[in-house]
Amino acid sequence: MRARETDALDRAWVRRAIDLLQCDGRRSADTHLINPMFPALKGLSIYLKDESTHPTGSLKHRLARSLFLYGICNGHIGRGTTLVEASSGSTAVSEAYFAHLLGLPFIAVMPRSTSRVKVDAIERMGGRCHFVDEPSRVYEVAAQLAEETGGHYLDQFTNAERATDWRGNNNIAESIFRQMSSEPHASPHWVVMSAGTGGTAATIGRYIRFQNLPTRLCVADVENSVFFDAYRSGDLRVTSAKPSRIEGIGRPRVEPSFVPGVIDCMLRIPDAASIAAAHVLSERLFRRVGGSTGTNFMALLHMAARMLREGAEGSLVTLICDSGDRYASTYYNPDWLKENRLEVDSHKSRILRFLETGSGLDAP
Ligand SMILES: *Cc1c(COP(=O)(O)O)cnc(C)c1O
Repeated sequence: MRARETDALDRAWVRRAIDLLQCDGRRSADTHLINPMFPALKGLSIYLKDESTHPTGSLKHRLARSLFLYGICNGHIGRGTTLVEASSGSTAVSEAYFAHLLGLPFIAVMPRSTSRVKVDAIERMGGRCHFVDEPSRVYEVAAQLAEETGGHYLDQFTNAERATDWRGNNNIAESIFRQMSSEPHASPHWVVMSAGTGGTAATIGRYIRFQNLPTRLCVADVENSVFFDAYRSGDLRVTSAKPSRIEGIGRPRVEPSFVPGVIDCMLRIPDAASIAAAHVLSERLFRRVGGSTGTNFMALLHMAARMLREGAEGSLVTLICDSGDRYASTYYNPDWLKENRLEVDSHKSRILRFLETGSGLDAP
């Protein structure tokens, strides 16, 4: 008889690793659902799920934990496994944290344009950053590095939608709807979310269907990204040569984790409008939010304007994906905005007028 058995030591490592990941979850309370007041938007309540307060500063804390659990439970991650990821930054920050927690080597493959703050965070947690000049090459370089090191490519863009338990297990959708359950309009009219991997939108969209909710899902895309065109045309092979300027969202190819079938509406927001919306929201919240949160907020305001035009009442929910502190040298730096020819002032006045009067915001 021939037999092959997994080393008992390896199973002990797995048990310890799962314990450490679950403990990290238990040390956190749920993230806040903020309800800022906009009295001119009559009959509408706006909620922001604040994912910037996770220990690693963004919604990617949830994804990274899910990807680690998925990799360990599938037997792809074990004692000493080198972990590799393709990332525009936030995911790599969260993964570097969990790799450090489990004592595993971590390599992030990132576009050279990734913000310095994120690079520093990864390196401080013992991760290594490998830069590529062409953002569309991150996938192949990451896969290659994983092969060379005998490691595991976490592959957020493929695995985000499958590593997250979309039916529940305190995923972001379950958390939002639980927190909404006693609000005046408990089932939001719209949940609005931008797409990077597309995983968060997929989780929310599936959960809405699974729970039989009347809520609709609006996904916001940005310039130089293919999600919007793919959704409209149905052609999932489109690519883009230019990288997105809004970190964390907008992709040069349709990522496998983008699930168009659960989306009810898509908008494309100009980058200058995303940044203007981030500025306006930051002033309202007395703290800075990131660029993708600006995209989310701008798209939410467009859906709010539509509800006002239709005479509808109800609630709208979106996410604060990360803090603006990571983007002091870009979205909040007038020189950077000028260099990138991003004229935010006119968008800002339009947004402020809408928030003060409830009108003046046409379709994007
Ligand atoms: C990843 C990310 C998003 C988009 O979330 P996905 O679930 O990947 O689509 C939005 N904002 C920031 C800052 C991100 O890092």
